[in-house]
Amino acid sequence: MNRNDRIYADCAATTPMSERALRVYLDTAENAWGNPSSLHRTGQAAAMVLDRARRQVAEALGASPQEILFTSGGSESDNQALWTGAMAGKAAGKMHIVSTAIEHHAVLHTLDRLESMGFSVTRLLPDAEGIISPEKVAEAIRSDTALVSVMMANNEIGSIEPVAEIGAVCRRAGVLFHTDAVQAAGHLPIDVRRQNLDLVSLSGHKFHGPKGVGALAVRQGTEAFSLILGGGQERGHRAGTENVPGIAAMAEALTESCEEMPRDAARVSAMRDELIRRLLAIPHTRLNGSADRRLPGNVNVSFEGVQGESLLLLLDGMGIAASAGSACSAGSLDPSHVLQAIGLSGRLASGAIRFTLDRDNRDTDPGEIAEAAAQAATRLRGMSPLWKDMESGAVPHEI
Ligand SMILES: *Cc1c(COP(=O)(O)O)cnc(C)c1O
Repeated sequence: MNRNDRIYADCAATTPMSERALRVYLDTAENAWGNPSSLHRTGQAAAMVLDRARRQVAEALGASPQEILFTSGGSESDNQALWTGAMAGKAAGKMHIVSTAIEHHAVLHTLDRLESMGFSVTRLLPDAEGIISPEKVAEAIRSDTALVSVMMANNEIGSIEPVAEIGAVCRRAGVLFHTDAVQAAGHLPIDVRRQNLDLVSLSGHKFHGPKGVGALAVRQGTEAFSLILGGGQERGHRAGTENVPGIAAMAEALTESCEEMPRDAARVSAMRDELIRRLLAIPHTRLNGSADRRLPGNVNVSFEGVQGESLLLLLDGMGIAASAGSACSAGSLDPSHVLQAIGLSGRLASGAIRFTLDRDNRDTDPGEIAEAAAQAATRLRGMSPLWKDMESGAVPHEI
């Protein structure tokens, strides 16, 4: 929906609500506006909407409804998951956490906070394709390890982590395992039992639900640590009157994405592969991340002699929305921690651009994006002193 003549290729940043989710959102806001904690029928109507949403989210994850907590989004879910693992560990005298250098900042900054409070943190490096090895996780686990946190799929380079194997390692060691599944949910199958996941973070707006709403799956037997204190909502684990329309719409969007997943995954992967092929046909470009263990819609390419931000702005002017792979977050010019972790030089990291496609994209989008990117890159290279030095041989090409 919301199609116009622009091409939106920034689905990892956010997605518009689907028509189905929007209908549920409006219907719930209009007709189930009661407070779910109220005992009267107006309140109970809203409580029933919440129950249904909880069953939908549970079903999408292979969890049971009592294992689903609703939150304000992926960031809150990540924070709550890490605090849950850390506080459970602390009570048992375990103060060590294993995670990775390529997590989202919602995880990385929470790890920094926990470290400043006395926890010790091991941040594993991925291989050159962005993959975290289960063997490295096993080696990093100590007798005082409270929690392992490894994302299911990376938001910048789309690498899909072997979370089922890592989950099995954690299960054998008796250590809690959290995965940030924000980029995976609705795009890859998730099964908390089969994949040995104890804590799973989701965010509504990454799969055509609303912004400001998410979920955390917490395996039965693990007591979620409350970040927000107050009323007894979410069985005492997350206070505050629930965002009923947002939760209902997120659940509907997740159900819809899971229903469409088999068809979408094939079509979106084909568009991704076509876009990668066409971009790599531009001289002196490289693919960042893995060629095969990759989210269906993720393309991340470095252009030598080009600044990702400049390319992004030129493309925006040509009607294409993408993301500069070099920035940690919009507006920041620090090189991406993910691209650094996979060993890219500062120069190649700053020449990275990310295109993220999904089911709303048209089959003609990859061709149009690649053509525009080629034109924009040629223009930028023409203005770059570094590129001139590379072309004259004064500075060697890296790719
Ligand atoms: C977007 C994102 C988040 C944050 O989710 P919000 O709902 O925007 O807070 C966390 N982790 C990953 C991997 C993400 O892509």
